[in-house]
Amino acid sequence: MSYESMKLDAQPANNTVGWRFDNSYTRLPDYFYVPQNPVPVRAPQVVMLNHALAESLGLDLRALSAAEAAALFSGNTVPEGARPIAQAYAGHQFGHFTMLGDGRAILLGEHLAPTGERFDIQLKGSGQTPFSRRGDGRAALAPMLREYIISEAMHALRIPTTRSLAVATTGEQVARETLLPGAILTRVAASHIRIGTFEYAARQGGAEAVRLLADYAIQRHYPDLSGTENCYLALLHRVTERQAALVARWLLTGFIHGVMNTDNMSISGETIDYGPCAFMDVYDPHTVFSSIDQSGRYRFSNQPLMAQWNLARLAETLLPLIDPVQEKAVTRAEEAVHAFPQIYQNHWISGMRKKLGLFTEEDEDAQLIAALLSCMYKNQTDYTNTFRALALGALPNDTVFQAPEFAAWYAQWQARLARQPQSGESALRLMQTHNPAIIARNHRVEEALSAAAEHGDYTPLQQLLAALADPYADAPEYDEYRTPPAPSERVYQTFCGT
Ligand code: AMP
Ligand code: MG
Repeated sequence: MSYESMKLDAQPANNTVGWRFDNSYTRLPDYFYVPQNPVPVRAPQVVMLNHALAESLGLDLRALSAAEAAALFSGNTVPEGARPIAQAYAGHQFGHFTMLGDGRAILLGEHLAPTGERFDIQLKGSGQTPFSRRGDGRAALAPMLREYIISEAMHALRIPTTRSLAVATTGEQVARETLLPGAILTRVAASHIRIGTFEYAARQGGAEAVRLLADYAIQRHYPDLSGTENCYLALLHRVTERQAALVARWLLTGFIHGVMNTDNMSISGETIDYGPCAFMDVYDPHTVFSSIDQSGRYRFSNQPLMAQWNLARLAETLLPLIDPVQEKAVTRAEEAVHAFPQIYQNHWISGMRKKLGLFTEEDEDAQLIAALLSCMYKNQTDYTNTFRALALGALPNDTVFQAPEFAAWYAQWQARLARQPQSGESALRLMQTHNPAIIARNHRVEEALSAAAEHGDYTPLQQLLAALADPYADAPEYDEYRTPPAPSERVYQTFCGT
């Protein structure tokens, strides 16, 4: 079927939900997007609805009948005021440049929440677009549920992220290695402007296009920079700062994104595009889960370096705006990008201090942290549980710390705690709010996904979501989610599911 023949006119929906759409992105020049309605699906059914998120957006999903909700979250009806588009962007994928664009996502528009905040509402898996290349424009159910679970888990961990409002099955099958049930995810994001959007602008329209996009991004995400001297250089600094803070949060929590291509790195500093991402169980800086990451480019410990590499690609697009004299522009852009490691390190070490209950700063803290990590690595201890055990006041003879060398580290840490004025109790309280008890462990995620996608049983998924909603609490009813995988349960590889 040709793409043209699929451009069906979707029906506008009644606005009982409370949508307040604006479509500022469509006011950019037309090469930034293509008007495109979602391609209707046969028999949609909503399987996940995020009422808490809806309420925070000022939306009332309870007002919808099942049929109306299914039509809305499958794209069979388009909400009043929305102007659906597929966005154009490019990307460096595993280091290689490609022109991309939304091949299976439709931006319905921007919803204005009662707080005045603006959120992109995007349908993912919504059918072919002019950017689909050889893809079918669709998504399978399990990967969409995976994005729902992990993005909500990240939100509960207070890590900046896009969120998931709904998942609807399509009643159609998608052909992957086997036939799988199709689904559409409704994603909510501060925006979908990526580093790759700037790369696209630079190649498509040169410096003028980059300027328009940068002005738009500044207005939307960094309005205080608007009208300041060299606001484009300031934008680069700001994005560097946000991404350094974000990636530090990933490493502090044991998160591995898996596909940090420039098209998957958001200018707003949110985690975006949950594919083969995963949380690590046993501490190992070399951990790679993604089946397509053969060289380990996006392994756990390489994420800061890759974020900086991506920022260099952003910087290249901004050069002509930073200074008309190229050499000067390069020097200033390099300064911004070269600042990344130190900014990252400051965020990471300050996060690590909180994980260890340290309110004060000592030069030797870096060594204390490194010694703990090295002990964990050598003894293959569980990253999350080791920190949580410390936060709960575990003693050196606790079973998580079997190695004798741990006792030496523990004594050093206790001495360090004693050198700060804050009480031991307040140190533990600080630790308990920075060391989650519960993360979205892969084996539990996979178990929930197969129950839902293969057997239509959403109970394990709903329970997992409930456990992940308050990850810093010690709720005894969720104790089982703390258990690391048994050797037979370990998940070694995750897949994009595209
Ligand atoms: P991702 O790996 O999800 O970041 O996707 C990379 C690019 O491939 C984006 O341009 C997607 O829109 C596109 N893409 C992924 N899956 C499909 C699909 N099934 N059909 C069409 N395009 C796709
Ligand atoms: Mg992507």
